[in-house]
Amino acid sequence: EAEKSRNFLEEIVEEDLKSGKYTSITTRFPPEPNGYLHIGHAKSICLNFGLALKYGGKTNLRFDDTNPVTEDTEYVDSIKEDVQWLGFQWANELYASDYFDKFYEFAVQLIKAGLAYVDDSTAEEIAAQKGTPTEPGIRNKFSERSIEDNLQLFEEMKAGKYKDGEKVLRAKIDMGSSNMHFRDPIMYRIKHAHHHRTGDKWCIYPMYDFAHGQSDSIEKITHSICTLEFIPHRPLYDWFIEKLGIFPSHQYEFARLNLTYNVMSKRKLKQLVAEKYVTGWDDPRMITIAGLRRRGYTPESIRELCEKIGVVKRDSLIEMSLLEFCIREHLNKIALRRMVVFDPLKVVITNYPEGQSEIVHSEDNPEDPNAGSREIPFSREVYIEKEDFMEVAPKKFFRLAPGQMVRLKSAYIIKCDEVIKDDAGNITELRCSYIPESKSGSDTSGINVKGTLHWVSVPTAISCELRLYDRLFKVEDMLNDDRPYTECINPESLVTVTSAYAEPALRTSKFNDRYQFLRKGYFCLDKDTSEDKMIFNRTVTLKDGWAK
Ligand code: ATP
Ligand code: MG
Ligand code: MG
Repeated sequence: EAEKSRNFLEEIVEEDLKSGKYTSITTRFPPEPNGYLHIGHAKSICLNFGLALKYGGKTNLRFDDTNPVTEDTEYVDSIKEDVQWLGFQWANELYASDYFDKFYEFAVQLIKAGLAYVDDSTAEEIAAQKGTPTEPGIRNKFSERSIEDNLQLFEEMKAGKYKDGEKVLRAKIDMGSSNMHFRDPIMYRIKHAHHHRTGDKWCIYPMYDFAHGQSDSIEKITHSICTLEFIPHRPLYDWFIEKLGIFPSHQYEFARLNLTYNVMSKRKLKQLVAEKYVTGWDDPRMITIAGLRRRGYTPESIRELCEKIGVVKRDSLIEMSLLEFCIREHLNKIALRRMVVFDPLKVVITNYPEGQSEIVHSEDNPEDPNAGSREIPFSREVYIEKEDFMEVAPKKFFRLAPGQMVRLKSAYIIKCDEVIKDDAGNITELRCSYIPESKSGSDTSGINVKGTLHWVSVPTAISCELRLYDRLFKVEDMLNDDRPYTECINPESLVTVTSAYAEPALRTSKFNDRYQFLRKGYFCLDKDTSEDKMIFNRTVTLKDGWAK
């Protein structure tokens, strides 16, 4: 097997290990607990944990919880569940909020070095003084405060003496810098808000740029990997670390994952939930990890997608069909084959003795030699798919038609003798005869039929509900569409089938079981299932049904 080419981050890590810059690496996955993880996060998870696994290092799970208003423990719990479900285990579970005291000390250190000041300007004034990319900003009179004044004011900010927005702490760097992030960036703002972990202890909170690099450094992260939009932040990341004289973590950037027909932002996904476009964060149409899991996606398929798309430095749009390809490939290998009739038409086999039944056997998975087989009851009355019968059939219709023969999968060949209709002319039932010598596995009939149909025996059929999903959005490139994304929602993203009948083997389904409903697609049990109704989600359609 040819050695896979390394991505640019693997090259960097190998170089750093070879040169002796590090003896082992530490990465981190740093979600903000303000929503559920989506498949974009999965890419970051696979990358960060994958690097550490490949090179014998470790990965921290660090909650980037520096913004009290949007964060919640519900999200913390879901994030932990999702990372583990994807197959990864962190070395340490950490919280940026645990470093609040340390961050405060860092800020005091910079004030003492004359590198930070308290500014009383309003947000508007600060923005106006910032200048433009082509014009330098102006430094205001507050920047001339003495170190003593700044220390006292900052302490008063912490003590709760001022209202939200009354003051900020800024780094004193360069109002003329071509990098806007260097124009005396805000380090701390006042926010009288309850924090999900620190409660009411703090009323000042650090900005992302004054928390992220410092957290990395405290944890001695060697390779801090983030998405491309943070490139302009990197000089500031380095500046704080250098001025504080702390462990030099390094930031590297890669392209975020975008998928066709999807939005990939927690803010937007949150809005879909809040405004009830979907039933929740785990709605099977959502590309959240929770949604994909409920839909029937496997961790393997998601990891495979991340592997396939690789790690690059230029943004791109990945086809949703690639994700579907990955899950089909995996499910084809592991899914148990079952028969479910979506839209039933009753067939009475007139020459099969009344009151009699028998068991036929069918393989659980022809792709897996270790998969066993199951018993399926067969009787005088079976359901077939309405669309598998045509009263006036075209020449190439190899399914059932008057006078025509088909095989019932793993059972017998039957022939349609008579069509029964109600007063309105609707077909209500077919009368067929079976060929007793044609039983699958011991067929001596010598008859060859082109069509094989799935079926369910009537007396033992389980009535169930099926949920068939289509894409949530109608637009391929959601990033480059002018309409508000809520106007791009596909109104037909969910079709519910309530008339379905399943073979009895499905009675014992568990949530982790994966099924291929023959000719119909891949399915799994949905959590809305109750004592009196089984509900299955279609994960993905089959590429081709067999014996169409
Ligand atoms: P969102 O815009 O969806 O809120 P975020 O970047 O604000 O995403 P975080 O919780 O901060 O969300 O993300 C945690 C990590 O996941 C970060 O390192 C971030 O770069 C990465 N990440 C987020 N979205 C993607 C994506 N689409 N592709 C790859 N990595 C991503
Ligand atoms: Mg973020
Ligand atoms: Mg975000």
